[in-house]
Amino acid sequence: MKKIIGSIAVMAAAFSGSVAAQSAAHEVKAREIYARIISFRTAAGHQQTPAMVDYLVDVLKAGGVSETDIATLEVKGERAFIVRLPGQRSGRPILLSAHMDVVDARPEEWARDPFKLIEEKGDFYGRGTSDNKAGVTALISTILRFKAANMKPSRELVFAFVGDEETDMTTTRRIAAHPWVKDAEFAINTDAGGGILDDTTGKPLIYLVQGAEKTYATFDLIVTNPGGHSSRPRQDNAIYQLAHALERVETYRFPVMATDLTRAYLGAVGKAQSGPVGEALRKFSADPTDASAADELAKSSEFVGTTRTTCVATMLEAGHAENALPQTAKAAINCRIFPGGAIASVRDALAAAIADPGVKIEVRGNPEASPISEMRPDVMSAITRAVHAHYPDVMVVPYLESGGTDGKVYRIAGIPTFASSGLFTKPSEMFAHGLNERLPVIAFYQGLDHIYSLAVDLGGVRTKR
Ligand SMILES: [Zn+2]
Repeated sequence: MKKIIGSIAVMAAAFSGSVAAQSAAHEVKAREIYARIISFRTAAGHQQTPAMVDYLVDVLKAGGVSETDIATLEVKGERAFIVRLPGQRSGRPILLSAHMDVVDARPEEWARDPFKLIEEKGDFYGRGTSDNKAGVTALISTILRFKAANMKPSRELVFAFVGDEETDMTTTRRIAAHPWVKDAEFAINTDAGGGILDDTTGKPLIYLVQGAEKTYATFDLIVTNPGGHSSRPRQDNAIYQLAHALERVETYRFPVMATDLTRAYLGAVGKAQSGPVGEALRKFSADPTDASAADELAKSSEFVGTTRTTCVATMLEAGHAENALPQTAKAAINCRIFPGGAIASVRDALAAAIADPGVKIEVRGNPEASPISEMRPDVMSAITRAVHAHYPDVMVVPYLESGGTDGKVYRIAGIPTFASSGLFTKPSEMFAHGLNERLPVIAFYQGLDHIYSLAVDLGGVRTKR
């Protein structure tokens, strides 16, 4: 096929012709790749990611990708790689990212072998089927389709395959600093974002694009005491002291926060909801200072996280013998910090709420706060076009992630990142990280189209309608 420049008519004809001719072939190939990569146990400690990288690099080379457009990165025994499709014009590249590693799965606990792709009654079963090997497959499939049709993007496209998203994200950091990636104008992450289907009817409800993540931070509350024999109780006791501190954490509420992104999300969800929660969503979206709306949303485990920082007790540890006074009592408080909030200020707020200098507060590890990626019209319209190809009229809305992905690493590195997997699933079918992970077969194939369509559209292969 000749280079895709020229009139829209010529381009459209060439484009649709090439796609129609190979549609079956690329789906067969993608399924083969998907099955193969599910079979690698790419969980921490199993060292199978390098073998998966070798396999994928071979697939890409066989598909026509030149060795000079593949860079393999090795960080502390973890392996990752990036692939570029050079642009016909200069300009900042666009990054597309997926992660190859998985949370481990114990075969003895699963109903089926987690490291074998099994298709059963409309679902693909296997560890990584949804998180995130469908995304890996969609990126590889997109590159292969570009090569097979000899299509060249006008903007350079860089595809990243992360090796340790589920653990340290050190390969993501290395990728973000790589010369092919560091100047990227924005990134599309396949590891989050997607459509929600009604649990009973299967009707598409909404499509969510992740534009920000809350910061994950865990604080330990620690009380120490000289202890002693339990037959001679002291006035002060580490367990009681910690219990009082926990009661204050329980009742403390962080102040309400809102951004354009969270207001757009809550307003859109509110339109589709009835009852007091729906009304509170609409009111809060219109006016985040509406205290009664914020109070109503604070009662909802689904929405409270989009309106403020939350901290909650998750673990307890105290004492060393049933007949001894406790010498230490410790509780873990897990916080999801609203973007823009500093870790130190959350610590200070907890200390003020607890109001007991005898309770030490220590942060675990080195949590990092990431900025919001405000929505770009070009990205939102490309995602909307891709979504509407399968689900016309469904609302496409940005959201704030309360969980976590390596999108935050790109955002911290200055690359605005939008997560859009293209996968439509029912909330009751969310099995990522859990037992018997699965993905509807139809979602897998639609996900391939979604990522391909974004690469074509954002890469400037097709002019905008
Ligand atoms: Zn993931």
